[in-house]
Amino acid sequence: MHYRQLGRTGLKVSVLSYGASPLGNAFRTIDDGEGIRTVRTALALGINFLDTSPHYGTTKSETVLGRALSGVPRDSYYLATKVGQYGEGNFDFSAKRVTESFNESCQRLGTDYIDVLHCHDIEFADLNQIVSETLPALAKLKAAGRIGHLGITGLPLKVFPAVLDCVPSGTVEAILSFCRYCLNDTGLEPMLPYLHEKGIGVINASATGMGLLTERGAPVWHPAPKPIMDGCRRAVEYCASVGADITKLAIQFAVHHPGIATTLVGTASPENIRKNVAYIEEPIDFELMAKVLAVLKPIHNHNFTRGRPENRDAIIP
Ligand code: NAD
Repeated sequence: MHYRQLGRTGLKVSVLSYGASPLGNAFRTIDDGEGIRTVRTALALGINFLDTSPHYGTTKSETVLGRALSGVPRDSYYLATKVGQYGEGNFDFSAKRVTESFNESCQRLGTDYIDVLHCHDIEFADLNQIVSETLPALAKLKAAGRIGHLGITGLPLKVFPAVLDCVPSGTVEAILSFCRYCLNDTGLEPMLPYLHEKGIGVINASATGMGLLTERGAPVWHPAPKPIMDGCRRAVEYCASVGADITKLAIQFAVHHPGIATTLVGTASPENIRKNVAYIEEPIDFELMAKVLAVLKPIHNHNFTRGRPENRDAIIP
């Protein structure tokens, strides 16, 4: 496993990290024991950054992750969770609720300290509230030694500078972007120099585009419109026709970018996590990658967005 600095946080994170949304049944109903074995396998293979949220399975992901981490030395991994989103369509970024939520997450995770705490999917929030109420409340917990670093997450890219440009340097130290740096969409890339200049650690999630670039395909709740679904399906089918694994290529592609500190991949299968760690040790088949990128070219950087109208990115469907 290789490790990279997460911005100026001082955290040296594994280039492939563990996304725990599947522990909350995001993609299928999981067996908790299998989920727990997956987390322990990830740690044994050198993954040291684990990401969850009270939103995933409406607290189930945090509960199962807490069980998986019970008895594991707290200083052997970095733990990230989130505040502000609590089940479908349920957002509350008030100082009171995020403080309560932080404490509830700690209880479920069996810890009193979170390494990276994110405001979860701020495109659904009034960004003035994030800047003037949510982050100051979390900064108090940070000053009290309960949080290491603060982050923000979102699907539309425009929410990142919208907040980062309005808070004192060092307030937010990481961003989590998802579905915007993968084989079919590299929209995050032009923003990387700006983020690096500000010393922001970049966490890239959903290397497979939340299932678009997997044999199983996207789950029913996936927000991508049909042309993107169809375009990704063509790439999956192309890989299958030449005996290649699209998920392997998708993970290799995302992890390869040196400007991205870590890439989160979600799974509740010990076998998949073993495969994923092995994939990043293997040399990339650049010839195959070029062919797959060519198949994806008609939909390259076509994207989807969501959130309050003022927080949405312009889209190419
Ligand atoms: P992902 O792109 O990592 O895809 C997960 C899918 O890929 C699952 O269906 C999983 O079974 C499958 N998969 C994983 N390894 C595989 C393998 N070897 N072979 C075949 N299929 C495989 O999407 P994700 O889980 O949504 O994203 C990763 C993590 O990032 C999440 O779990 C979450 O922690 C985080 N995330 C955060 C946000 C946010 O903060 N707003 C959004 C998206 C993701």
